[in-house]
Amino acid sequence: MRKNAEGDGNMELDIQKRLTEGNCRWQRAGGELDALRRRTAAEGQEPYAIVIACSDSRVIPEQLFDAGLGELFVIRVAGNVLDRHQLGSVEYAAAHLHCRMILVLGHTGCGAVSAALSGGGEGFIQYITDEILLAAGEERDALRACEKNVLHAVGILRREFADHPEIPAEDLQIRGAVYDIETGDVRWLD
Ligand SMILES: [Zn+2]
Repeated sequence: MRKNAEGDGNMELDIQKRLTEGNCRWQRAGGELDALRRRTAAEGQEPYAIVIACSDSRVIPEQLFDAGLGELFVIRVAGNVLDRHQLGSVEYAAAHLHCRMILVLGHTGCGAVSAALSGGGEGFIQYITDEILLAAGEERDALRACEKNVLHAVGILRREFADHPEIPAEDLQIRGAVYDIETGDVRWLD
């Protein structure tokens, strides 16, 4: 049994309690949020953009774009890299939910980019760092490597969805941007 920092109680239960209390506050928020939750549950979702972002806890697409329930179709994976599962998620949202913007969002201070630049990770992490190193090439500056990693993913998306029977390419914008975790600014790359 793992103990919490004070050595009393059970860490797992403490974390579960914190999560449950948060969920209770969320359910009881009431007002517009309650109405929106009911409406989107009944009528379905119509997100206006797909965002592929890092799992970093400081990078929360809905918050930094001031978006609410049903507005963004978010795919989060460390290092905002793309593999077939992510492409499948993008395909679903673009073809069936009719999202017309795909945004790959990197961020400053990305641990996955740093891990890649400092020699790559081990275990499952290596799948992520290998992909970032492939994108970064010889680049060793963290911000420029982050940008190259974003543009690499943008290139994959543009290639994979250039001629898709259910996704009209002329209506689809595929863009890249970098979020600054200090200032909160999103800088569009292309
Ligand atoms: Zn990151």
